[in-house]
Amino acid sequence: KKQQKLSSNSYYETLFTGRNRTQIGRENATIVMLARNSDLKGALQSMRSLEDRFNNHYRYPWVFLNDKPFDSEFIMQTSAMASGQTFYELIPEEDWNPPPHIDKKKLERNIEKSQHIIYGFSHSYRNMCHFNLGYFYRQKRLLDYEWYFRVEPDVEYMCDFMYDPFELLRTTNKTYGFTITIPEYQETIPTLWDTVEDFMEKFPQHLHPNNALDFITTNDSDVFFHTVAKSDSRYNMCHFWSNFEIANLDFFRSQAYADYFDHLDKAGGFYYERWGDAPVHSIGVALLLDKNAIHHFDDIGYHHPPYMACPQSEEVRTIKRCICKIEGEKDAKGMDVLPPSCLPRWWRYGSGKKFLNE
Ligand code: GDP
Ligand code: MN
Repeated sequence: KKQQKLSSNSYYETLFTGRNRTQIGRENATIVMLARNSDLKGALQSMRSLEDRFNNHYRYPWVFLNDKPFDSEFIMQTSAMASGQTFYELIPEEDWNPPPHIDKKKLERNIEKSQHIIYGFSHSYRNMCHFNLGYFYRQKRLLDYEWYFRVEPDVEYMCDFMYDPFELLRTTNKTYGFTITIPEYQETIPTLWDTVEDFMEKFPQHLHPNNALDFITTNDSDVFFHTVAKSDSRYNMCHFWSNFEIANLDFFRSQAYADYFDHLDKAGGFYYERWGDAPVHSIGVALLLDKNAIHHFDDIGYHHPPYMACPQSEEVRTIKRCICKIEGEKDAKGMDVLPPSCLPRWWRYGSGKKFLNE
């Protein structure tokens, strides 16, 4: 009944036709959100924040992706919240469900075994991670774009952007931008690093000569980080927290990334273990890109529970009108640099050093 009332309401039509939705930002870019209909409230909260802090001045389009059709309430509410055009895309079943080579029984056995692991019990979470790693950038609607900004429901941007982050990445020759970097839960990826090492052996030509391997690996003398793999270079669990990403879609459509994804997909760890999209994306980015093509957005305040990042400089926080507080929590502005944050490691082994010397 409620849906009917909304769709017959001409107020929405007036709203949409009466508003100028022409894109002002000059980049070939879009904001992307994967969401369920039940995520509506959180989606609106994230949109409100990003529109007010950034997109309202640029009117980049929003692309919404879902494995089920979006309902009319979701479509109307999010269209009303957006300053730019909105698109609603249904993900084809074969892009969402486990691929044919996955042994269903083996998957079920692992699901049962993984009840104590974060999201270990969930089939849809594994589909979601697999989709985010191998399929989102191949969705038809996204083929038109070169850049994307990944947004999740229930996040908040704590500062005014004051510039176009897509433009910043393009003009400084960057491919991938992040805000928060932390270690992954070891139990979710028992064989990931071994599989990555096989990939490196099989496709040495894809490893960038100036890659960020030192950022994601740690040797024995470095006791602070956890270790898992058997060989000398061990994955230290550091990853870019991929619920925030601003990046170049063409990188994910490259042969190097395709070979990387296929190698991991064949190994099956998205389903026989619970490989998350964050560590897998991050390892790909760290190995295949020049580390100087990875950008740390240290001036975009961002909150995805339970972590928040805010600019360290008080001057920046003031000028960018940051509100680095979360309702009900104490001022948490330092959370992104204190342990377990991997940021200090990024400064030392990533491209941070370069900026300090410049
Ligand atoms: P977390 O950030 O790891 O706690 O996981 P979330 O629950 O935030 O999920 C990550 C992203 O995937 C969010 O954008 C969710 O809206 C989306 N998502 C998760 N599961 C599903 C699903 O089954 N269907 C759809 N369409 N989106 C999903
Ligand atoms: Mn989330």
